[in-house]
Amino acid sequence: MSETRSETDVVIVGGGPAGLAAAIAARLRGFDVILADAARPPVDKACGEGLMPEGVAALRELGVRIPAHHSAAFHGIRFLDNDCAVEGRFDAVCGIGMRRTVLHRALVQRAQQAGVALCWGTPVRWLSAREVRIGDQGVRARWIIGADGQNSRVRRCAGLEKAWRSRPRVGLRTHLQVAPWTDLVEVYWHQLGQAYVTPVASDEICVALVGGRAAPLRMTDVPRLFPALGDRLKDAQPADSSKGAATVSTRLRRVVSGSIALIGDASGSVDAITGEGLSVALRQAIALGDALAQGDLRRYQRAHRRIMRMPQMMARLLLLLDGRERLRRSTLGVLAAHPRLFSRLLAAHVGAASPAAVLIDLATVTGRTLLNAAMARPE
Ligand SMILES: Cc1cc2nc3c(=O)[nH]c(=O)nc-3n(C[C@H](O)[C@H](O)[C@H](O)COP(=O)(O)OP(=O)(O)OC[C@H]3O[C@@H](n4cnc5c(N)ncnc54)[C@H](O)[C@@H]3O)c2cc1C
Repeated sequence: MSETRSETDVVIVGGGPAGLAAAIAARLRGFDVILADAARPPVDKACGEGLMPEGVAALRELGVRIPAHHSAAFHGIRFLDNDCAVEGRFDAVCGIGMRRTVLHRALVQRAQQAGVALCWGTPVRWLSAREVRIGDQGVRARWIIGADGQNSRVRRCAGLEKAWRSRPRVGLRTHLQVAPWTDLVEVYWHQLGQAYVTPVASDEICVALVGGRAAPLRMTDVPRLFPALGDRLKDAQPADSSKGAATVSTRLRRVVSGSIALIGDASGSVDAITGEGLSVALRQAIALGDALAQGDLRRYQRAHRRIMRMPQMMARLLLLLDGRERLRRSTLGVLAAHPRLFSRLLAAHVGAASPAAVLIDLATVTGRTLLNAAMARPE
């Protein structure tokens, strides 16, 4: 970084998806932006690597292009548990599966093009309300954005600590050289955790195994825990080495303190089971850009709450099924018998239907079930 850049409009700490998207959004609003990250691009991370349709729309709004030959569209979600399978398809939109490094490269390219000053390999170890130390240099800024992930230093410095967090789980990601057999993201359920399978190219899938910290899942567990998936993968070759990371849902009371705002996992996260972490970060970035343009971070605080509401609710609901075999089997059984309900839930999950529409469907299904039970009862 040049010595002359000792003052700027916005300093962003962290150049993962959230930080880069925020940097692009702020530049598109005409602000002078410096971004610092401890790592060097392309930054990789254990992830299910599925971007939901709202995330795809946000990427488009930010002008980020994902190369078609390094990604794969998916059109819905399928849950599988032993012999039960239930699936829902998106309506007229699609998600995109892609390696994290592909997403990172695309975001970096767009940030460069937009004129963001990028400082890689420079950890931020100190900051105050108006100044950030990037490497050896102090930079004064009108706004400081913490996009530094789950264990955010900016969050600690700003006194915006977590108000709530779920039970942490552990994820392991592996890329396998095999042509995707479906245009859906598949989630295989077991008592000990889940396997998420996302197509990430025409000849490659990403398998993310997520389970409890006491007994983290490994690829060698797949044939035993998820036999149908094991069959599919018996001849598949790993495309690179596996990568692990913790996943957890966290919630903060506030994501703004004075001129400091948090974004992405630093600002509260949703368990990997939702597949929403990237999408919420990209949507938050657009809301943050709008709030900066209005000179009012309270707008961002309100938008952030709205963006997180549904994913946080879905995380809680889905985690209820984790480790509760009877509840999971009966829930999947009901969804398999009422596929429209699953599609509605999926639409609400990705913001394409209102929670009220889901409640109406749920009430109809419950009413029908009660009626059928009453009619089936002997005189
Ligand atoms: C197993 C697993 C599966 C997942 N699957 C999905 C999925 O399928 N779809 C989905 O949408 N989401 C998924 N997620 C969630 C998603 O990965 C996260 O929500 C997303 O990475 C958040 O991005 P971020 O930019 O906020 O944080 P990060 O990606 O963690 O980036 C933070 C950045 O900050 C930098 N940094 C940290 N501290 C400093 C510092 N002091 N100075 C400078 N730089 C610093 C780091 O180097 C890093 O580059 C999954 C997560 C896990 C763990």
